[in-house]
Amino acid sequence: MSAPTVVDVRARIRETLARAVLPYAEQWERQRHISTTGWRDMGAAGLFALAHSGPGFLDSAVLLEELGNTGYAGIRAAVGVHAYMAASYLEMFGSAEQRAAYRPGMLAGTTVAALAISEDAAGSDLRHLSTVATPDGVGGYRLTGVKRHVANGSRAGVFVVLARLDGAVSGHGLTGAVLLLVDADRPGVTREPEAMVGWHSADVCRVGFTDVPVAGDRVIGRPERTLLYLMQALNAERLVAGLLAVGGVAYCVELVDRFARTHLIRDAPLSANQSVRHRLADLHAQLDLVREYGRHAARAHSRGELDVRTASVLKLQATELAVSAAQTCVQYHGARGYREESAAARLYRDAMAGTIAAGASELMREMIFEG
Ligand SMILES: Cc1cc2nc3c(=O)[nH]c(=O)nc-3n(C[C@H](O)[C@H](O)[C@H](O)COP(=O)(O)OP(=O)(O)OC[C@H]3O[C@@H](n4cnc5c(N)ncnc54)[C@H](O)[C@@H]3O)c2cc1C
Repeated sequence: MSAPTVVDVRARIRETLARAVLPYAEQWERQRHISTTGWRDMGAAGLFALAHSGPGFLDSAVLLEELGNTGYAGIRAAVGVHAYMAASYLEMFGSAEQRAAYRPGMLAGTTVAALAISEDAAGSDLRHLSTVATPDGVGGYRLTGVKRHVANGSRAGVFVVLARLDGAVSGHGLTGAVLLLVDADRPGVTREPEAMVGWHSADVCRVGFTDVPVAGDRVIGRPERTLLYLMQALNAERLVAGLLAVGGVAYCVELVDRFARTHLIRDAPLSANQSVRHRLADLHAQLDLVREYGRHAARAHSRGELDVRTASVLKLQATELAVSAAQTCVQYHGARGYREESAAARLYRDAMAGTIAAGASELMREMIFEG
């Protein structure tokens, strides 16, 4: 039998998302997290089991685009963090024992993963981390600090946490840092939802760690290589964020295009106006470019050749296009697009998070300029 084509893979993923995600999406948005059953259903449908690297990543690229194309950026972010951004630390740098301990639950959706990197004073600039891991004298650590804006925060079973090793000097480069796998049920872990303007299903939380015991076998890789791990993982994160945003733009452009062709003003569709047709043509053209660039970046990653510039260009262009497309979408919908429950309003609320999370646009520009 011949291998499934990209068209087959896309059709299968769309059918799975239509069954396991879309019927529940509004409810998840309202309750501000994906339900336990939702995570399990997505896991059972195989949505968390696609490859992070190699030729199999091309199927992941289709999934990421199609997650974006659901039109729910909070859901796409929650799944992106769980199945790719947090999971990649385990897959790329974790030990065989760590993968054996966490991978089955993560694939099944019974253990949700979250990434706890950012802090109040350490977002774009991670040199100012204040979360500290203090050696406990028996090979493990005691972890203390507060992480902000952690997606999947209240539902997570495990956090991938970046901390400064006690004694390392804060603000003098990211030396002396460590990545830890921290089970959410450890004593001293607290989480509080942070009400965000958009990405409602993403369950963004403030996560506190107070003298949390972390065993030595929960250290990811070798602490002296933490900076290298971060550089590699953050680049993959930009790729994932970019591909998710491409799908989000596709949803938005289709929505506004359909509306403009069917909404009548003075007995003629809105698209009878040349200014509207031209704006829509521009959006279609920009989407075509960014989608092709996303696929180019995904192919580069599948060959192990994704560079920082390519990932940054994709993340910057896709997330910024999402903002301008969402603005047009609301504008052309008129007041009905400004009603809180409308899809246009959700796209508008959600779009801005894309230009901040996983690295702000200005940081992408810095990296593109550096080459
Ligand atoms: C919805 C959402 C979900 C998130 N989920 C997670 C998560 O799951 N885990 C996690 O660890 N973090 C998460 N984050 C945090 C995210 O990674 C940070 O917000 C991001 O790294 C930026 O850091 P900051 O917000 O502290 O902004 P700062 O670093 O304080 O920057 C503020 C602003 O300054 C500007 N700026 C920054 N650098 C430059 C520069 N060099 N030149 C010019 N201007 C600049 C940018 O406009 C930036 O937005 C999330 C954020 C959001 C909004």
